[in-house]
Amino acid sequence: MSENLRFDGRVVVITGAGSGLGRAYALEFAKRGAKIVVNDLGGSVKGEGKSTRAADEVAEMVRNAGSVAAVNYDSVENGDKIIKTAIDAFGRVDIIINNAGILRDVSMLKMTSSDWDTIINVHLKGTFSVTKAAWKYFKDQGYGRIVNTSSGSGIYGNFGQANYGAAKMGIHGFTQVLAKEGEKYNIKANSICPVAASRMTQDLFTPELMELLVPEKIVPFVVCLCHESCKENGGLFEVAGGWFTRLRWQRAQGAFLKGKFTAEDVKKEWTKVNCFNGLNDYPTGTQDTIGKIISFSSENAKPK
Ligand code: NAD
Repeated sequence: MSENLRFDGRVVVITGAGSGLGRAYALEFAKRGAKIVVNDLGGSVKGEGKSTRAADEVAEMVRNAGSVAAVNYDSVENGDKIIKTAIDAFGRVDIIINNAGILRDVSMLKMTSSDWDTIINVHLKGTFSVTKAAWKYFKDQGYGRIVNTSSGSGIYGNFGQANYGAAKMGIHGFTQVLAKEGEKYNIKANSICPVAASRMTQDLFTPELMELLVPEKIVPFVVCLCHESCKENGGLFEVAGGWFTRLRWQRAQGAFLKGKFTAEDVKKEWTKVNCFNGLNDYPTGTQDTIGKIISFSSENAKPK
């Protein structure tokens, strides 16, 4: 990648740009020449209420940094309105950072359908809605960059976050499909799993951790993913406190049983099902899985 990652002439839509990570992205893209759509609903961490203040303040900061901003106060569930703001103000859209988010943490026993739907709608549906509205512009211009915000809660699981974890893992599934569908149009989609100090995490982290995990340490990696020189597509990256690393799937040795077999036969193979030792098998598609089964079957079909 070039040492001077500029975004002159590019239009970046940042959802949830009124605070935390979104605000930090907006300020950095402003310095790098992008025109910015600052979207924020302005509600609480739990998604209650709304206000224009957070988005207005960040738009003002963007303008003070010498760039231009258009403001949008809609929920990400109405992605078409957010993208319309970009088209009306700047005539194009090049980059979307799907970042808006809320929490409704509650254990499974107490989780209501409303807790579930609210989180799925803002995170998963919101990410879809904004992306869907931008997609036709990306395809027609043969260019687009998308950064979706996943979470360790979805990748690893986190107590009390069945709704949030499901949405965040769903977001990475969505990213992987976008990457495959967008490749031929020069649309690149990647997911990040950030850990950062924000109003979302202020009750979880010590003051020392809050200092270590400032949002500004996430921003440079996201700038790289959004640049036209970025070749990454479909990746999932942990980003936190100056640490940047890719995650991927790894397949264990596994077991193949021919003919008829029982649960007891499967149980005997349990060690192989779980054995990763010394193996470097990193699948990237279901074709790979099907290919493996066909090859095992034909090996087993050969006369001994
Ligand atoms: P934050 O609360 O500071 O920022 C989220 C912003 O999204 C807020 O300004 C909020 O008003 C806005 N927002 C909420 N619902 C919206 C909606 N429906 N439409 C438009 N805007 C809406 O939190 P943050 O830590 O900066 O989180 C940013 C993203 O990163 C979220 O998706 C979050 O789930 C994810 N994330 C954060 C962490 C972390 O450690 N902070 C970890 C993993 C994932």
